[in-house]
Amino acid sequence: MSAVLHPLENRSGRPLRKLGSRRDLVAARVRDLLEALDLDLTDPNLAGTPDRMSRSFEELLSGLKDENEPELRTFPHEGSGEEPVLVTGIPFHSLCAHHLLPFFGVAHVAYLPEGRVVGLSKLARVVEFFARRPQLQERLTDQVAAYLDEKLAPGAVYVGLEARHLCMEMRGVSKPGAQTVTTAVRGPRADAAFRSQVSAHLARANQRGAS
Ligand SMILES: [Zn+2]
Repeated sequence: MSAVLHPLENRSGRPLRKLGSRRDLVAARVRDLLEALDLDLTDPNLAGTPDRMSRSFEELLSGLKDENEPELRTFPHEGSGEEPVLVTGIPFHSLCAHHLLPFFGVAHVAYLPEGRVVGLSKLARVVEFFARRPQLQERLTDQVAAYLDEKLAPGAVYVGLEARHLCMEMRGVSKPGAQTVTTAVRGPRADAAFRSQVSAHLARANQRGAS
């Protein structure tokens, strides 16, 4: 018998229930992983874990699929283009690329409209789309800013993320509660005036949140 595993068999040679299903393939590999970790898969609480993990990773990594890209409909904007549009405190959850452990927190997005604005809920959808991948916080911040810069062509765009990383809190250096802050700014009018306008708004939003 060949030692090479058929891609749709798991290590014990059991065929997967539905051949060709990505979900079953992942569940089979998770089963291998849990067995390698010496976990008892006959424990009723663990028996369904490979299937549950497979389904949950499908959702947590859905941002890797182009078909899940949010549709960014824009609307004409009559304003002067001098005042930024801000959405603060958008909750997000992601997985760190190094440990596949969660990091999560809030995103603040601001932009100077240049003739067009986008529905506010869409900003949250863009953050979620890029968060549902194995990520580095810095890269997530940059990707959201670059995406909005490209799709919306605003005068300027700011993205700030504040997050807690469970890979730092549950293991390793074990620093519970530490916040990691990252920012990205883009666009032809992303000057000192724009940055200080955004900072002032964020400080006010923070105060409201704290009071
Ligand atoms: Zn990590």
